[in-house]
Amino acid sequence: MIYLDAAATSAVRREVLEAMWPYLTGDFGNPSSHHAVGESAARALADARASVAAWLGCRASEVTFTSGGTEADNLAVKGIALANPRGRHIITTPIEHEAVLESVDYLVRHHGFEATALPVDGDGLVSPRDLAAAVRPDTTLVSVMLANNEVGTVQPVAELAEIAHAHGIPFHTDAVQAAGWLDLNVAALGVDALSVSGHKIGAPKGIGALYVRGRIPVEPVLHGGGQERGRRSGTENVAGAAALATAARLALDARETNARVAAEARNAFVGAVLAAVPGAELTGHPESRLPATASFVFPGTNGETVLLELERRGVVSSSGSACAAGSEDASHVLLALGYPEDVARTAVRFSWGPEVSTTQLESVAPAVAEAVREVAGLAH
Ligand code: PLP
Repeated sequence: MIYLDAAATSAVRREVLEAMWPYLTGDFGNPSSHHAVGESAARALADARASVAAWLGCRASEVTFTSGGTEADNLAVKGIALANPRGRHIITTPIEHEAVLESVDYLVRHHGFEATALPVDGDGLVSPRDLAAAVRPDTTLVSVMLANNEVGTVQPVAELAEIAHAHGIPFHTDAVQAAGWLDLNVAALGVDALSVSGHKIGAPKGIGALYVRGRIPVEPVLHGGGQERGRRSGTENVAGAAALATAARLALDARETNARVAAEARNAFVGAVLAAVPGAELTGHPESRLPATASFVFPGTNGETVLLELERRGVVSSSGSACAAGSEDASHVLLALGYPEDVARTAVRFSWGPEVSTTQLESVAPAVAEAVREVAGLAH
């Protein structure tokens, strides 16, 4: 079996599991406890925070551990927008992950916010000009993802953040899918807040982090014992934090090589699929895209059925977005890119991790062609 659904989740890496082990067993303390067991856990948490900060190029005090990407996005969107006294307007895009879209919707429904969804072009790109036109005196936050989880398009985040800053507006980016592949240095990106999730880079599900710059106020979403400097109450997931820190260190060390190798393999794979499958179309931007994601539409088929045919041939992939898989709706991302609903339903996404070799990926294109032929044949 070849696993090409890394955008959904990845296996926990051995080094990561080993880094977690002590904090689940001997060093099991609560970091808030005033005794040696607790202090040892507190030290581990501080070390983990320092490693995540090194990954993102920020200060340790700017990192808040969360339960994952969803919580990091909720805290960024609700927390920053609600704490900002400028007003009640928020700007985002129609292709964000549900964690951002639903948080924005919550602000609209329960806190009197107005939301502007910036248009995206057929490749999924947001235009800086459209952002400049959407900014208002009462805009409290701009949230635009770094890389899209379905089509892999990478946004010009540094340019977009500059526009937000010219108007004094904080800028958040969801970097969950970019992690491990793109440079997440927050100064280079120019962002004020950035979300990451552990399980996309070889840490377990249930740990993530939110970077928030300096003294930008954040209204907590979880209330309680005041952990994480009051930003995120709840006894800290020390083993999870150690896991994220280890996965982040590994990602940082290997990122450039992994990204180069994956991009070359992706280009060959995309070429082979387009050559072998008549009518197939690559979705997302042709160049400004993640190295290890390739999503296609196969008009005249059904994505779910192609997926099943691929699985019969030993290839595991995804027909919809990572986290909305299983839902019957056509992808909101593909609809926003302008695909008609019937074509959007033919989408299949292939995404892989650094452990997948170029040769393995090469063997997939003929299986894709066979699976599509099978389903197209059935459909007619
Ligand atoms: N943001 C993006 C872009 C994602 O792809 C995902 C998950 O697939 C999330 C947020 C949610 O992250 P988590 O699964 O850690 O809650």
